Amino acid sequence: MRYAVLGTGTVGRTIAGKLASLGHEVAVGTRAPEATRARTEPDAHGNPPLTQWLAERPGVRLLPFAGAAAFGEALVNTTSGTASLAALAAAGRDHLAGKILMDIANPLDFSAGMPPSLDPVNTDSLGEQIQRAFPETKVVKTLNTMTALVMVEPSRVPGPHHVFVSGDDADAKEFVTGRLVEFGWPGESVIDLGDITTARGTEMLLPLWLRLWGALGHADFNFHVQGAPTGA
Ligand code: NAP
Repeated sequence: MRYAVLGTGTVGRTIAGKLASLGHEVAVGTRAPEATRARTEPDAHGNPPLTQWLAERPGVRLLPFAGAAAFGEALVNTTSGTASLAALAAAGRDHLAGKILMDIANPLDFSAGMPPSLDPVNTDSLGEQIQRAFPETKVVKTLNTMTALVMVEPSRVPGPHHVFVSGDDADAKEFVTGRLVEFGWPGESVIDLGDITTARGTEMLLPLWLRLWGALGHADFNFHVQGAPTGA
């Protein structure tokens, strides 16, 4: 299957790399491919330049957001949360229409420094904003409550733990659950929270996640809902 992974950061690379390793065709979307390829310094998170990552994955294409979205039969949003609506607009409404969009972004606002705040929050969520902006796209919020490596290698966290899905379209959530299983998540560890408004809850876990990261000193942890079905 052909996937568009919109975003070149830690999450985009992790998801794109996993999908490619599973045999899928992958296009990574960025604002300006030539400018992205010209970067020679590690990014803000210390990732090596994308050209190095791409050189190790010759099958993965780097395209403008619109080209990647046109290529993908299904899409993944791994752009900065405050820029996601702009990035998806650049990807093009027509290229998103009728397709499933896994939304992994969190609306973290770092403009006032650390810790970031959430915007939107409480009565709205980024997942809902995206669904409202692109009503012909089937948005499924998932995987946003853990660090990138755990998304595609859940066994990094010992014991049972959970991943959430939120979305209005049952078939789209079933499709995304299938991808999560493909990534290594036991089916019973996927909790369907309900419609896209439930993304408020998973996005609002981020302030807690960030404080746990600080308190534990590492990111290989995840949420386990005692009383819910569990996977290994
Ligand atoms: P990031 O640095 O948050 O985002 C990088 C991507 O955002 C790049 O592709 C960049 O485009 C795009 N972008 C930035 N500003 C833009 C703008 N003004 N217009 C259009 N696009 C713009 O990357 P990340 O750390 O991988 O995180 C991606 C998303 O996943 C975020 O929403 C984050 O909250 C969420 N998340 C991250 C983790 C994690 O482990 N890091 C875990 C859970 C959820 P270019 O390619 O053109 O530079």
